[in-house]
Amino acid sequence: METLKCIICGMNINDNNYKFNNSAFIDGNKNEYIRYCPFCGVNEVYLKENGETYNVELSLLNDNTIKILDHAMKLEVFNGDFYVEASKLVKDTALKKRFWDLSKIEYMHANIHKRLGSFKELPHLNKPDYTRYVTDKEFLKVAKQREEHAVAFYNKYSKQVSSTIVEKVLKALSKVEKEHIILVNTK
Ligand SMILES: [Zn+2]
Repeated sequence: METLKCIICGMNINDNNYKFNNSAFIDGNKNEYIRYCPFCGVNEVYLKENGETYNVELSLLNDNTIKILDHAMKLEVFNGDFYVEASKLVKDTALKKRFWDLSKIEYMHANIHKRLGSFKELPHLNKPDYTRYVTDKEFLKVAKQREEHAVAFYNKYSKQVSSTIVEKVLKALSKVEKEHIILVNTK
């Protein structure tokens, strides 16, 4: 396959990595058809043979947009942390892998926001004790609520940002989270 660049997260997709995080997708990548960025999960529209990663001048972002990117980064780290813990605590092997792959995607989203907002590092958040959830079903229910919240967040705030590039990124990520709702709803 031709190397593709994801213009949302900036990663190059090739023969060695197109199957990464495959449990985080409904109909994952095949060598003859790359449907998603395996790193951030956006769909094929954003994968280009000679693409340039979306970037913004920090000076073009107003305070509200920087605040939104900061919140988005924290939201994604919070969800990434949740999926790491959930992947350890659930019993079903396939679900463990799915949650693990989802954590990687959410952390990549956090890194996208970090780059756009020129933040120095990802935040280290307090980690809640998730052992209060017991069954796999409970974890799936919480996962679904988080994904729904993420979609609502992106839909609301993509309308408020001062940059069309940031708006496009938030909308692209919203679609990824929408698919996650379906993924955590199937089992
Ligand atoms: Zn990507």
